[in-house]
Amino acid sequence: RQKRRAAFAALKAEAPITKDGVRLTVMCNAGLRDDVAALDVTGADGIGLFRTEFQFLVSATLPQRERQLRLYKDVLEAAGDKPVVFRTVDIGGDKALPYLNTHDEIEENPAMGWRALRLALERGGLMKAQARALIEAAGGRTLNVMFPMVSEPWEFDEAKAIFEAQRQWLADRGKRLPNEIRYGAMLEVPGLAEQLDLLLPNLQFLSVGTNDLTQFLFAADRANPKLAERYDWLSPSILRFLRRVVGPCRDAGVDLAVCGEMGGRPLEAMALIGLGIERLSITPAAVGPIKAMVRSLDRGAIVAEMGRLLAAPPRDVRGHLTEWATRNGV
Ligand code: PEP
Ligand code: MG
Repeated sequence: RQKRRAAFAALKAEAPITKDGVRLTVMCNAGLRDDVAALDVTGADGIGLFRTEFQFLVSATLPQRERQLRLYKDVLEAAGDKPVVFRTVDIGGDKALPYLNTHDEIEENPAMGWRALRLALERGGLMKAQARALIEAAGGRTLNVMFPMVSEPWEFDEAKAIFEAQRQWLADRGKRLPNEIRYGAMLEVPGLAEQLDLLLPNLQFLSVGTNDLTQFLFAADRANPKLAERYDWLSPSILRFLRRVVGPCRDAGVDLAVCGEMGGRPLEAMALIGLGIERLSITPAAVGPIKAMVRSLDRGAIVAEMGRLLAAPPRDVRGHLTEWATRNGV
């Protein structure tokens, strides 16, 4: 075990390049200032998901704009040249904040409730403060920002408009602005996939949150252990769903990433690469194992295999892919 850990650590300086020469992007997920140190430890390509709600969850009072600004500046500074994707707050639902008064009413299904962007668009002051803090923090560099739980393209448009208005507000006051703001949405609500043609022209990247996406696609609570068996990331439903998203993103020039836990598991990540996904953001501990998998994988071969497999899925996709991986030295 120690040997394996040492082998993964040695991969720090190695890029995630497949055997047939495709350079993939492997980033890591973070939520606190200290998490950024994982970039140096793992050699990851950046932070593909910074969960800004962590600061709110660990705080006894609402973090004011100044405190947010300080955190975002520290994070960007610690990340150096590597990109950071900030996700606006995903609070509400089961991540209730006592000081925000989000729980006037008990919700029977908080995961599908008043949370994330739904809440942020109604509590406009919250979103405005966060937008201004992020734009100021990224002065002189690129700001990557994405919105959680987007269900409708207009929600994304409204959130983006809040950021653009704050950019203008800061510009009018002569503040240093980001060189560029890149906008993204999380794909977690399955229905959004039916409106990609309306969404994709307005953003630069899309990030699939497979944790939430899976529970909504399967109607299976991600936190209920009784349903764990029904919750397989290698189900043809998930894999076919994701495959349908890849082409439109590529055609629109939109970067597509997966930032849910699925991408941190070698067999699942192998399947994602076989669907044409080239960007993963995963838990730091998974970066070494995923890099090792990528470097032993022939991308052309897994793409062909996933095409065959999804045309006529076997009952046991997991068993099938495990066997394929063993046979192909992955
Ligand atoms: C997800 O839903 O997959 C995701 C990355 O977001 P979170 O786990 O924070 O809900
Ligand atoms: Mg989520």
